[in-house]
Amino acid sequence: MVDIETVVGDLRDSFRSGSNRPVAKRLEQLARLRALLVDNGAVVEAALAKDLGKNAAESQLTEIGVVVAEIDHTVRHLRRWLRPHAVRTPLIVAPASSRVIREPLGVVLIIAPWNYPIQLTLVPLIGALAAGNTVVLKPSELAPATSELLATLIPVYLDPRVVAVVEGGVDETTRLLAERFDHIFYTGNGRVGRIVMSAAVAHLTPVTLELGGKSPVYVDSTVDLRVAARRVAWGKFMNAGQTCVAPDYLLVESSVHARFVELLGEAVEEFYGRDPRESGSYGRIVNDAQFDRLVGLLRDENAAVGGGSDRDDRYIAPTVLVGVTTGSPSMREEIFGPILPTIPVSGVEEAIRIINAGDKPLALYAFTSSKRARQKLLRETSSGAVAFGIPSMHLLVDGLPFGGVGESGTGAYHGERSVAVFSHEKAVLDKPLKPDTAALVYPPFSDRKYRLIRGLLARLR
Ligand code: NAD
Repeated sequence: MVDIETVVGDLRDSFRSGSNRPVAKRLEQLARLRALLVDNGAVVEAALAKDLGKNAAESQLTEIGVVVAEIDHTVRHLRRWLRPHAVRTPLIVAPASSRVIREPLGVVLIIAPWNYPIQLTLVPLIGALAAGNTVVLKPSELAPATSELLATLIPVYLDPRVVAVVEGGVDETTRLLAERFDHIFYTGNGRVGRIVMSAAVAHLTPVTLELGGKSPVYVDSTVDLRVAARRVAWGKFMNAGQTCVAPDYLLVESSVHARFVELLGEAVEEFYGRDPRESGSYGRIVNDAQFDRLVGLLRDENAAVGGGSDRDDRYIAPTVLVGVTTGSPSMREEIFGPILPTIPVSGVEEAIRIINAGDKPLALYAFTSSKRARQKLLRETSSGAVAFGIPSMHLLVDGLPFGGVGESGTGAYHGERSVAVFSHEKAVLDKPLKPDTAALVYPPFSDRKYRLIRGLLARLR
């Protein structure tokens, strides 16, 4: 059994000794992380195929490629992101200079989920390393092949004084959470998110929670329905629906609902053939427990597309449900699988009412060319992100914060924000001792000083 106290203690000593402090060292670790992925691309693809039945092309697009691109972007801009940022010094403090510097936090803990076990473990790691921290990485035990691979390769490529991988499930994570960290970055479900946040309270450790939820899609009659259906089907059935930002349910203008469902069926056939079970491009459900939960959601439902399943293979067909109401089982929890309930709505107002009756989602998608509908959705709903015209792709845009709001999470990362998440923004004021203009604020106070102070403070506003 790993001695977690020693692992964390060693990383703390190492942080104090400045092991990952020089920017050159951080850049070197990022380059080595990149080499890990490039040298071992085929092995990583194989692990993802074993855990989730992922196709190699999808693994490149959504896992390996995303991480490599994030490393390249970070390496390109890191020195600029770490440059001290000068701010204006008000008159009452002048002469002086003021600046903000980013300093590393210390030892950080990253707890990752199973659904994109490379991306969601390594993209946070990039931010933590770039910001100069030492890191404990806890991959998900539910993607065991990937977890084992990371535990084998990371100590070979990265400095063990900077990154330690701790494998395991609830027991190991509970023991990790008892330790003092300087930041905890958790990706997964809200139930465990609450456990993480409660544990962090004991040490006043700040947390980032990247959670999930039911991401809605609104479709109206103003758009090219065929293209919209293909895009929804792509975002939904990728990774067999086990994507935090996957479309969870559809709200379709009733005049085009039946047609849209038909087009979804055509898109599924185009992507995965007549029998998706035979398709090398379609994934599998991660484990039996998730499989049973998902099949439970199909009971007594009306599948217009798909509906079939095979427990031995943990296969669930890409499925589109009709006749769903807001009270149906599939509308009461995050689906996180290849099942897409559809609800006809009279228009954007009804869609907004349904969306706002639930928790704030991680993403909201809309296919509409109506300016009014777009504005209403933006102003009258709250979600981690809004994307018009395509699901999931917003997370490939480095400049956009990736994170939730309310039940879908707290904090955001990607690009420069990842460095910000894992840094402390330290305020630095530098005031020369000569001339001693601060004399103005020293006692004793006279009427003249009173007026002067009030005058100067007024200029602060
Ligand atoms: P999971 O079961 O792999 O759990 C995530 C992590 O929590 C794992 O490392 C696991 O070991 C740990 N964990 C589990 N139980 C624990 C406990 N009792 N105490 C401490 N740690 C524990 O993954 P999951 O939660 O099933 O992932 C799916 C959820 O994650 C969905 O809700 C999905 O929407 C969300 N998600 C969000 C994002 C995002 O970026 N916002 C990305 C992926 C998944």
